[in-house]
Order: sequence, then C-alpha cells, then structure tokens
Amino acid sequence: MKQVLYRPAASFLVPLSLMQFSSSLLENAVNEFSKLPGIGKKTALRLVLHLLKEDAEDVQHFSEVMSRMRTEIRFCQRCHNVADADICSICANSMRKQDVICVVENIRDVIALESTQQFSGTYHVLGGVISPLDGVGPNQLNIETLVNRVHKEETLEVIFALSPTIQGDTTIYYIQKKLPEGTRVTTIARGIAFGGELEYADEMTLARSLQNRLPVDSYVSSR
Ligand SMILES: [Zn+2]
Repeated sequence: MKQVLYRPAASFLVPLSLMQFSSSLLENAVNEFSKLPGIGKKTALRLVLHLLKEDAEDVQHFSEVMSRMRTEIRFCQRCHNVADADICSICANSMRKQDVICVVENIRDVIALESTQQFSGTYHVLGGVISPLDGVGPNQLNIETLVNRVHKEETLEVIFALSPTIQGDTTIYYIQKKLPEGTRVTTIARGIAFGGELEYADEMTLARSLQNRLPVDSYVSSR
C-alpha cells in the first residue's frame, strides 16, 4: 500500500526569512544567534526558546561568561596564544620544554595539538600563513616576534605545523631563512591518513609520504 505523507497546507510553508514574531525582544535574540557561523534562523529560534525556558539567573550567567570572554581575554605576549594574563599558561609552565617551539597558524591548531597530549614544548601562533593573493604578507603575521624569540631564547628546535599547502610551504621557507644557524628546524610529517587508501591520496601527499618514510622497526614499535 502506498504511504500517504502528511503535507501541510501551503500557507504553513512560510519562508524562514519571513518568520513573524510577536515580541521584538525574542526577534532580536534570534537575529543575534543567527549571526553565528553555522546557525540558521531555525536553529537560532530553537536556542532562544531553550534559553527562555531556563532560569533567568542561568541566562544571566551565560551572557556574563560570553561578555567576559570577549572583554577580558588576553593574548600571550610571548606566543600570541589566548591567555588570562600577559603570559599564557603554556609559556608559564616550567614543566614544558621552553626551548622547543611549535609554529602554528591559529589558536584552533594549539587546541587541536594540545588535545593529542603528545607535545610538551611551547607554541607560536602566526595568525595565518603568507598568501600574497589574499593580501597577507609577512608583516601581517607574528613572524618578527618568532624570529626575535628564537634569537633571544636560544631555542633548540622550531617545529612547523602549518597547512600542507603552497602558502604553508612558502611561510616555512620565509621564516627558516631568518632563523639563526644551528637551530633545528623540522615540520610535522605529512602523509596518508590512517585507514586511507593510497589511490585516493593526491600526488603531493604521496610524494611527502615517501620523503618522510620511516624505518619499519621504528614505525612498528611506535604503534
Ligand atoms: Zn604563551
């Protein structure tokens, strides 16, 4: 038997952009939420209606946390990571190897690398990569502070963890030339994703995987 689906009458199919509100307070809140990335009007309405059900105190707390995050957050004077003080908790931690610097593009990369719990050095957040087509030159990035830092602190190793793109490689090349001789400069291995199939990897990835090959012994023992 053919299933008959319920179809609302055409008058119910109001485009979301024409959503009508009986309260401008509610409408304003929905508009604010829908400015966030990935949040459409429908999701914004769901979130606002959820907040409406919460205790007024909890909603007050929510807005205070957001507001304080925006106004009180600082950027580490040494590595440009987010911080609660002049120096971030990673730079201030004497248990971490302060003479090893992992260079990343943004704060999200720091969070991703920290989540692996495999790195015990410090970071330097560039704020992007050199990309002349997008109008991003070396002066727009935190490169000078990195170079000064390596000179001043006698850094042992600089590890680049940048996007495997032409822009990422250009940035590495540019910075490497400015670092003092004798500094160990490395980049994170770029290879085939675990479980990935060789035939689907692009040529650059395959070429890098070959360049970064490891002896089988060390590979097997590290798993
Ligand atoms: Zn820091």
